[in-house]
Amino acid sequence: MTKKYQILLILSLILFTGFLSTSLISYFTAHDSLASEIEESTLPLTGDNIYSEIQQDLLRPIFISSLMAHDTFVRDWAIAGEQDASAITRYLREIQERYDTETSFFVSDKTRYYYHPRGRLKRVSRDDPQDAWYFHFKNGLDPYEINIDRDTADPGRITVFINYKVYDYGGNFIGAAGVGLSTSLVKQLIDEYQRRYNREIFFVDRLGNVTMHSDTYTGAPQLRQSPELSLYATRILTSPSSSFNYQSQGRTVYVNSRLVPEFKWYLVVQQTNNPATDKIYHTLILNLIGSALITLVVLVLAWLTVNKFQRRLEAMALTDKLTGLANRQMLDRMLPQQIAQARRRKEPLSCVIADLDGFKLVNDTYGHPTGDLMIRSIAELFASISRASDLICRWGGDEFLFLLPNCNQAQALQFAEKLRHAVENHRLRVDDNLLGLSLSLGVSELTSQDAPDDMILRADRALLASKSAGRNRVSQPPLGASQPA
Ligand code: GH3
Ligand code: MG
Repeated sequence: MTKKYQILLILSLILFTGFLSTSLISYFTAHDSLASEIEESTLPLTGDNIYSEIQQDLLRPIFISSLMAHDTFVRDWAIAGEQDASAITRYLREIQERYDTETSFFVSDKTRYYYHPRGRLKRVSRDDPQDAWYFHFKNGLDPYEINIDRDTADPGRITVFINYKVYDYGGNFIGAAGVGLSTSLVKQLIDEYQRRYNREIFFVDRLGNVTMHSDTYTGAPQLRQSPELSLYATRILTSPSSSFNYQSQGRTVYVNSRLVPEFKWYLVVQQTNNPATDKIYHTLILNLIGSALITLVVLVLAWLTVNKFQRRLEAMALTDKLTGLANRQMLDRMLPQQIAQARRRKEPLSCVIADLDGFKLVNDTYGHPTGDLMIRSIAELFASISRASDLICRWGGDEFLFLLPNCNQAQALQFAEKLRHAVENHRLRVDDNLLGLSLSLGVSELTSQDAPDDMILRADRALLASKSAGRNRVSQPPLGASQPA
């Protein structure tokens, strides 16, 4: 891999890891603070709100039941021997209608009769599993109990019963009274809470049985049977409130639970999809796409800049600063290519070397800067005479080399003569003086046996011959010095 690619690779790695780490850090920071916000504040708040709504919506039946259990009419009537069943029936019907409950009841402990708004229904019996609730309740310590059961008056219907203990004036247990609410009503309430708070809500009793939930509930009927919640069942069922989260199908589920002491149930509020988490996840994705795009743009710009500077450096390394012509390095690079091309195409290739006559005198008389001006003006003159395919190279101080593709020695001689003539007629104005110079040239053509430098050596020798013969002339190698290719 070249240095250039290494630099670009390192640059892109630095940029991308920089972007990636800042995006990920801000994502996880936002995620964590959101998670703790939900766990520590939002969900408990929802729990509190629902709790106070439950108190309004569900405690009312508890109060009604309490009212019934303490009603002197009920107690007196029972103590007096349950004489007129229609009196208690009328009372129960009144309760049912006045408070709009699903049902109302009184069970006498003495006779075991189950009284209902429609009359005396049956006797509760230890042998009937459907009546187990009564004996369980009677033997329990609590003054009241919430029980979800089949309605004795209508066994097809599941009802939420509030059973309240009734005592005589001496504190002896004489029966149970209370009301029943339809579960559909309770489900409606839960549905409404769920809609309002946009969270899943359900109740579990102290044993972990899911006692109330909406129709949309898809979890297990027992906390300990739930694949995820079973791990937290003990935590929920042993503390008055708890907050935690777990992972389910790649998503974080936040859970908050609190004891509702009136029911001895736990209210569980659960939030699976958090729109804010989705939002910060989308922001992360957008950030990463943005980072990738910025990295790409920076890379493209870096690539273009590096290439530009590389080209400029190459051009600087291959051109002569004073004249803008090719320099010796350029010739070294071009000569083998030109020779190979000429040989492949079976075309002639010639070279001309030219050296200004007495140039040193210009420097000595008018100064080095004027000498520079002269060299530059001669270079421009050469460029104006040559073809685009000719390579003009500043070979030395006042020495120039022309590489002429598809040009034989005779044509090169003509070209050299043209150069000599042009320089002879060229004048450079310096102050009031017009400076002129002459040019000596040597010409040679590539031969089939030539090593790369042979053609140039011959042209150089020819140039020397021009100098020794008196300057301002063109020479070619003596006949027999070489055979053209
Ligand atoms: P000759 O006829 O034998 O070629 O004599 P000359 O005076 O031209 O001498 P020669 O070619 O040997 O020397 C070229 C001189 O050009 C020598 C050097 O001081 C001068 N020279 C070389 N490069 C530069 C340059 O970039 N600028 C200027 N002003 N002078 C240069
Ligand atoms: Mg010279």
